[in-house]
Amino acid sequence: MELWQEMLRQSVDSGKDLVERFGFDKEISEKLNSLFHTRINPYYLSLIRTPGDPIWLQCIPDARELEEDGLPEDPLAEDSHSPVPSIVHRYPDRVLFLTTSQCSMYCRFCTRKRKVGDSSKINMKYIQDGIDYIAANPQIRDVILSGGDPLMLTDFLLERVLKGLRAIPHVEIIRLGTKMPCVLPQRITPKLCRMIKKYHPIYVNTHFNHPWECTLEAKRACEMLADAGVPVGNQAVLMKGVNDDAAVMLELVRKLLTMRVRPYYLYQADITKGTNYFRTPVSKGLEIMDALRGHTSGLAIPAYVIDAPGGGGKIPILPQYVIGRAGHQIILRNYKNEIFTYPDVEEKSEATSSPVEQQFMRKRKNGKNHPEPEKVEVEL
Ligand SMILES: *Cc1c(COP(=O)(O)O)cnc(C)c1O
Ligand code: SF4
Repeated sequence: MELWQEMLRQSVDSGKDLVERFGFDKEISEKLNSLFHTRINPYYLSLIRTPGDPIWLQCIPDARELEEDGLPEDPLAEDSHSPVPSIVHRYPDRVLFLTTSQCSMYCRFCTRKRKVGDSSKINMKYIQDGIDYIAANPQIRDVILSGGDPLMLTDFLLERVLKGLRAIPHVEIIRLGTKMPCVLPQRITPKLCRMIKKYHPIYVNTHFNHPWECTLEAKRACEMLADAGVPVGNQAVLMKGVNDDAAVMLELVRKLLTMRVRPYYLYQADITKGTNYFRTPVSKGLEIMDALRGHTSGLAIPAYVIDAPGGGGKIPILPQYVIGRAGHQIILRNYKNEIFTYPDVEEKSEATSSPVEQQFMRKRKNGKNHPEPEKVEVEL
């Protein structure tokens, strides 16, 4: 058994552990466990400094998960974009491929609580269906292995999946969405890196949320991936009490760069049942983005996105930098709130701004003042 597997076996993961080690009421701990697994491996557990701190909040169950919040279990409507159980196909050219339901730690804010931890929802027999679906759909050029955590698979099984995908000519890139570098960096071994290297181009997106997670062990894991030629990105989730603070976020993104990890997304928290207590106002996210841009390396700045409820995909949101227009002058502000104007180019042609406006102009020229709107599908 490899070290990481041994560590997993020593995880805190039952109601009994919660009662005995963390003083939970027996009944509450049973309820919490029946809603969503608890699993905290000894490495991640060791990062806790005091009860209720940002590490604790992410991994220790909380009675607030039981609140009747009226939020959906599947806010991103993933199940309705799922042609086979292991695939979420929302965008034209790329898919999520769910290869396991298991994670090395169960994050209390997980958006996929309805599936994760439940091995009847995602299992090996679905993996071949997923590969077959990707093979049959030539528009798919980017496959994101997700779950659960695909690095919960053994090297042997993961290699079978990668090999299967690489046998499909239209699959250009493969991404691994894994929390391992953050929660169980011991999973990143020389053997794993040697295997992954054979299937390039492989990208990894990992998931650090707080600077305390940037340990020497985590740094080593990220460097090993980078040395194996894998570009490593980070997807963080904005959470109350964890990282809803500009100074904390600034420290996190800077530390990530020193670990050769490029911040990729900062997610506004999803509206997932049982996670409401983590949500922050969008204004907080905008304030944090405003405190990053210009104040530190552009490389350190993730895109702040809202994953649209109902399954519209990720929508970027930015602080307002364009303050207005005066004739052909665009009025802008910089990171210090100083005002600048930029003389925009005057186009003589109809190419005004957006494609929608251009299309509108073309139709007007053809004699239609009110062009028929394109067919709009709204899914509720
Ligand atoms: C996030 C996501 C992707 C990948 O989106 P990128 O913006 O390309 O990183 C693909 N499919 C689904 C369903 C997703 O949620
Ligand atoms: S690692 Fe990802 S899928 Fe697993 S519990 Fe955490 S957020 Fe959910």
